[in-house]
Amino acid sequence: MANKLIVVSGPAGVGKGTIVKTVVKKRADVVESVSCTTRAPRAGEVHGREYYFLTREEFERRIQEKDFLEYDEHFGNYYGTPESFVREMLKEKSVILEIDVIGALNAKRAFPDCVLVMIAPPSVEELKRRLIGRGTETEEQIAGRLSRLEYELSHKDKYDYVIVNDVIENAVAELERIIDK
Ligand code: 5GP
Repeated sequence: MANKLIVVSGPAGVGKGTIVKTVVKKRADVVESVSCTTRAPRAGEVHGREYYFLTREEFERRIQEKDFLEYDEHFGNYYGTPESFVREMLKEKSVILEIDVIGALNAKRAFPDCVLVMIAPPSVEELKRRLIGRGTETEEQIAGRLSRLEYELSHKDKYDYVIVNDVIENAVAELERIIDK
């Protein structure tokens, strides 16, 4: 079976990280790509595991060298998917990228064979409950995230698959089926 590049997006709090991590843990033939960023590492983050932490100069040099499959700026920092790393990994395994809608559509342009997967919440109400339950966001941040939710979901027609994350085990199985298609 040919290895695939799978791009997973979805609104914050939808559980995409858990789904992707579960699949990667279960399967020796699937890895998650490690992005590059210019933001500072948070406590506990390890260079080469969560991200490759680069200086702005290094990042901009790699933009010039066209080493990013896609890149974007969030909150004043660059984030990008290193193309050489992804292509190298694809020789051995399927690769999952977890990126937002804009990054995903840019990745599709750069790499038309990639498969776009949107993780959607069973309902906005349910997602709101999850975001509040997480206890890491203020009311204002939650409101901001909910307004982004609609924006993210409005692109779902451009995705190859939409997985509704109702029961996590089912969502994991669905992502595995897409990988194995
Ligand atoms: P954080 O700083 O919280 O780890 O991530 C901030 C934002 O950057 C998140 O929305 C995350 O999805 C996005 N991001 C992380 N890696 C990449 C990447 O490789 N490309 C793009 N376009 N966005 C990324």
